[in-house]
Amino acid sequence: MAATVLQGKPVAEAIKAEVAREVEALKAAGRRPSLVAVQVGTDEGTEAYVRVQRKVAEEVGSEYRLDQLPEQTTQEQLSQHLLALNDDDTVTGLILQMPLPVHLDARAAQDLVAQKKDVDGISAASLGLLVQNRPRLAPCTAMSAMALIHASGRPIRGAEAVIVGRSDIVGKPVALMLMAEHATPTICHTRTADLGFHTRRADILVVAAGRPRLVTGDMIKPGALVVDVGINYVDGKMVGDVDFDAAVQVAGIITPVPGGVGPCTVASLMQNLVEAAKWQANQR
Ligand code: NAD
Repeated sequence: MAATVLQGKPVAEAIKAEVAREVEALKAAGRRPSLVAVQVGTDEGTEAYVRVQRKVAEEVGSEYRLDQLPEQTTQEQLSQHLLALNDDDTVTGLILQMPLPVHLDARAAQDLVAQKKDVDGISAASLGLLVQNRPRLAPCTAMSAMALIHASGRPIRGAEAVIVGRSDIVGKPVALMLMAEHATPTICHTRTADLGFHTRRADILVVAAGRPRLVTGDMIKPGALVVDVGINYVDGKMVGDVDFDAAVQVAGIITPVPGGVGPCTVASLMQNLVEAAKWQANQR
């Protein structure tokens, strides 16, 4: 029997509806959240992402601004720009768009973002709190994958969870979040000797490798929950990291690409914006 396809849109809509209610309450208290995205140079993927950010920010009632800095911006200029936004009380959330031009040190820039404004959740400080199981602003893509896992209704406690990908923004945080909810996570990566050995054991399989159709049908445990985070373009078409047509015949529940994790990621970003607004209000 073919798997149930778990669409991201209804999950994203539910998150946004809750965020909109919270934004309304913040506005009533005179604290309308405001998100500022900083883009350096041009990048097609970034341009698409910031358009969606603006649309969703407006949908939930928050303010949005895009600061576009020129390609030749120096590290010092970028640092000064970020520090000024940190000091600006009218800015609630700050997101530095990746990729940066190659002459810039992305990690150094990211770590300048004030912890209470890091709505992308990827600074060392934010990830540190996640490691200690007391997250405040967590990485949005990982939050999005978790929102879909929750929406699937599958039990997490005691589950064998396998995550393909060990990046700081997706693989590692998803593993930490699943562990916090008492799953037993295994993280696979490029040096994993036998990927299929691990993926076939997974009750919950999260794939975030950025390799089109890396996970084939025979690598999936029958009935498993499969969350495909990957975004790849093959012959002009967006595909995930999972061979969907084969996987849908084996899995129990599977998220599609496009239309799965993607729509929930910006909704999770807005969740972080509200959390940042509340955090800042409580610490004044
Ligand atoms: P990354 O390149 O930083 O990390 C990829 C990880 O996958 C690495 O840890 C690597 O070890 C692992 N990997 C690569 N090839 C592998 C292989 N053959 N076998 C096993 N492991 C392998 O990427 P990322 O930033 O973590 O993103 C992963 C994917 O998720 C990308 O396709 C990206 O576009 C997508 N993504 C989607 C969203 C969304 O909202 N849907 C957001 C962010 C990233």
